[in-house]
This record gives sequence, structure tokens and C-alpha cells, in this order.
Amino acid sequence: LELFWSAVQAVKEDIQRVANRLASQLRPEEQALFDVYLRMLDESALPGEVVSKIQEGIWAQGALKQVIQQYIRHFEMMDDLYLQERVVDIRDLGRRLLSHMQEGEQKHLEYPERTVLVSEELTPAMLGEVPKGQLVGLVSVKGSSNSHVAILARAMGVPTVMGLVDIPVNQLGGRELVVDGFEGQIFASPSADLRAFYQAICEEEDELFRGLEELRDKPCETLDGHRVPLLVNTGLMTDVVRSLSHGAEGIGLYRTEVPFMIKDRFPSEQEQREYYREQLEAFAPNPVTMRTLDIGGDKALTYFPIQEENPFLGWRGIRVTLDHPEIFLLQVRAMLKASEGLNNLQIMLPMISNVSEVEESLHLIYRVYHEVREEGYDVHMPKVGVMIEVPGAVYQIRELADRVDFVSVGSNDLTQYLLAVDRNNPRVAQLYHSYHPAVLQALVRIAQDTHAVGKPVGICGELAGDPGGALLLMAMGYDSLSMNAASLPKVKSVIRSVDREWAVQLLQDVLLLDSPHVIKSCVDLALRNAGFGRYLRPVKTPVCEPAAL
Ligand code: PEP
Ligand code: MG
Repeated sequence: LELFWSAVQAVKEDIQRVANRLASQLRPEEQALFDVYLRMLDESALPGEVVSKIQEGIWAQGALKQVIQQYIRHFEMMDDLYLQERVVDIRDLGRRLLSHMQEGEQKHLEYPERTVLVSEELTPAMLGEVPKGQLVGLVSVKGSSNSHVAILARAMGVPTVMGLVDIPVNQLGGRELVVDGFEGQIFASPSADLRAFYQAICEEEDELFRGLEELRDKPCETLDGHRVPLLVNTGLMTDVVRSLSHGAEGIGLYRTEVPFMIKDRFPSEQEQREYYREQLEAFAPNPVTMRTLDIGGDKALTYFPIQEENPFLGWRGIRVTLDHPEIFLLQVRAMLKASEGLNNLQIMLPMISNVSEVEESLHLIYRVYHEVREEGYDVHMPKVGVMIEVPGAVYQIRELADRVDFVSVGSNDLTQYLLAVDRNNPRVAQLYHSYHPAVLQALVRIAQDTHAVGKPVGICGELAGDPGGALLLMAMGYDSLSMNAASLPKVKSVIRSVDREWAVQLLQDVLLLDSPHVIKSCVDLALRNAGFGRYLRPVKTPVCEPAAL
């Protein structure tokens, strides 16, 4: 109530201020408009209704929304045109009140030492707001485990549960939470037993990782000597630090949109150059593969809004940057300059669905290369690769691979498009299956066709970081696997414990199966038999009633 009344007071003052400022420029009839606004904020009018809803137990912002919507519906039904027009004012008032309430809240927002962020919709910027080292868990109503924010969270090693559609978000503030990212569930105010159970799992995990750290400087190769370089996916600088300590051999995917997403405007060439230099330097002389800006779909920049009915099939990735070559050119320019003296830059193009997109991009990259050299920078022409994320591209691998230096599969998007399952929609999350026979067949074909034209093929989707998935990909002939830093030690220890031939046999067996679930069970069983049962979370949770949910 306090928050709401202070918002009402603040909005009244705002309106009065605007009215006074405009007083000399408006006629009295127009001035009267402000009085209408102010009258709507009289205690007995709109605020009175919001207050009774708050007193019924609805949270303040929710109560405001309900009342505003009621008013809007009411006014929209009126015959009088003048009154219909007032809808705009009401909506505006609602927004002003809300924005003051949010501001008021944020001013008092203090992040506890161990913070679990709970939100309707998590954004990468929200992760960035929590002070360093204090974020221990994430819970979101919207999105799924394949959302970009979930991928980021995984890279940061933060337990996360997405798509919890029925949780009362507003009742969780300030309570102790257990976030079980393995099982995809949360417990509020856990009992002592439940707490002890999860504490034991955390300790077990820590122990497992300490054991895996010994592998850091050992090569990733099978018992029969087949080498598979393990690379990392990065976005933030924290990923780089983790990756180095986990023994990555380079960056297979640097998501350049991440630094764009945490800013409120396009970063300048100099700023981009600094971000890129950090990544290139950290891994030199190993390769660092930078993907050109991949926005659209679920990755929005607040300062470059894209409104579409069907964003995943719309203006995404390379489509945006080729339509805005100034963004593309500036980015490549910053990348090239950042690589001076290191020469470990590779550039990768997202969402390619036509050879013309590759040709156009190559043309722009050559252009920047010559310009930058003419300006006196001693840079080398980077290797350029395409991402295979669109089913159409799977059938044109040879033509695409012929034009570039390498191919990298974005299996997250490829799975979403092959199976027509939105990777962010919790309702169809159970249909999103990386072990689907169609996905595996496409992956086999991509590897074969790329090799047929003599080019290397890697993969940078989440499947590469799954121990079972990594085995199948190695058996298919993928030349490198790029994953989140947190997955790297597990994948390495599995690959180092098997013969390549064994993995090839496993692949042949699963390619005969027609159900994703059966394939998954078959791979899990093989891992268990090979002694890797401990990597196959989920664990069994004790049967107990979550205290308040
Ligand atoms: C992918 O689609 O597999 C991929 C690596 O790109 P992103 O997850 O950033 O879309
Ligand atoms: Mg993708």
C-alpha cells in the first residue's frame, strides 16, 4: 500500500509539473485535460479500487493492472468517441504508476549473499545485475532449458529451472529456496531433511569436479588414440576464466550478442574491439571462433526492437546483419583489429539458409580485411565458417562448405527447426529431443557431406556437452566439440575411457532405433555399463511434500 500511495503521489507531482511547464502554451480547455488526469488519481477514483484489491491480497502491481484493464474495457465499450479516446490516458496513467512502483522497488532491492533470481521472464541483463559471486540459482516462469538465458546460466554453472508455469512468483520473495536443476523443480522453505538431502548432493558434485580437474592438462583422446579437441562456448568473460581452468583447447562459439544484450545501446567499435581482444588473448594461440551478431528469435536488444508474429522464422541472425551491413562491417572490423598480433580469429555466420548469404558475407569480410590492412593493421585473413542450423542447409552442405573454411552445427536451432518445436515453449519441451532419429540422421549426413568436400566439421550446440551425445558425435566423425565450460570435464573423462570403435558400434546400434526415448535409454545404459552412471542425473529425490508450494 505504501508503495502504491507513493507512486500515486509521484505521478500527481509529475503531471502537475508538466501542466505548469506547458501552462503558457495551452488554452484553458487543453489545460483542463490535466485536471482530468489528476481527478482520476483522486483517492476515491482509480486508486481506491486498486487499494481494495491490494487489501484482498493481490500484489500491488497486479492489482493496478487489473483495475487499469477493467477501466480500459469499460471505456472501449462506450459509444462516445471522446470517452473512447480516454483509454489512451488510462493506459498512460497505468504505465506511469507502474514505473514509479518498479523504481521504488528497485531502489530497495538488495541482493542477498546467496541470491536465487525468480522471475516471470529472465533476461541476460537480469543475470548481470546480481553482484558478482552472489547468484546461486535461477527460476523462470517462461522459457525452457533450451532458451538462451538457460544456456548462459549453464555456462555460468548456476542451477536453473525454466518453464515453471504454475509458481506463485510473488510469494517467493525472501524465502529459502532449493533449486534442483537436475529434476527441474524447486522447493520453498525446505524442511531440515530436504535441506540435508540437497546439501549432500552439492558436496558430491563438488567432489566429482575436484576429481575431474586432474584431467585439465590431459588430451581429449580415446583409449585407441583418436583425438577430439574440446572447445568452449562463451559469451561473458566469466566463461573464459572457467574454460581455461577446465582445459578447453579454444573457443568454438563466442556468442557476440551477449555483450550487446547487456548494454543499452550498440557498443562502439572500440568497445567491441576490447571485448573481442579479451577473448582472443585468453586463448591465443588456440583458435577463437566468433559468431557475427545473432539477434532476433528470442534474443532481443532493447535498443533495436524487432516485433514479429513469428520471430523464429523471421528476421534472425545473418538476415538482420546483411540487411544492416553497417552493423556487420563494424563488427568484423572490430574483430579483425582485435586479432592483430594474435591471428587466432575465426568468423562464423549464423542462420545461413542460402549460398548467396555466404557469398555476400564473404564479400563484406574481404572488404573489411583490405580496408583494415590499408589502415596499417597487420592482420591475417581469418578462417570463415557457416553454422548449420536450418534444415534446408543440411541438404546444401557441399555447396556451402565449398565456399568456406569450416562448418559448425548449431544443433539447438537445428533440432528446433527439424522437429518444429519452439525451443522456448515449456508446453512442447518434451517434444524437443536431441536424440530424435531425424536429428541424428541429419547430423550424420552433415559430417559425411562436409568431409566429402574436404572441410572440417564441428558442433557447438548443447548436444556436444552431453556425455552420451558427445560419444555419438565423435563416432559420426565430428572433428571438434564445443560446449559449456561446466560440461567439459565430464565429456573429456568419458571420451578418454572408451575406444572409438566402441562408440561407433553404439552409434550403429542407435541409428537402427526409431524412438528418441529408446535411443536415450540405450545410450544411458551404455554409459552406465561403462562406469559413468554417476553422470546420469537426475538423482532420486526423497518423497516429501514441498513445504508451501
Ligand atoms: C545453436 O543453435 O545450436 C547454437 C549454438 O546457437 P544458439 O544456441 O546461440 O542459437
Ligand atoms: Mg542458434
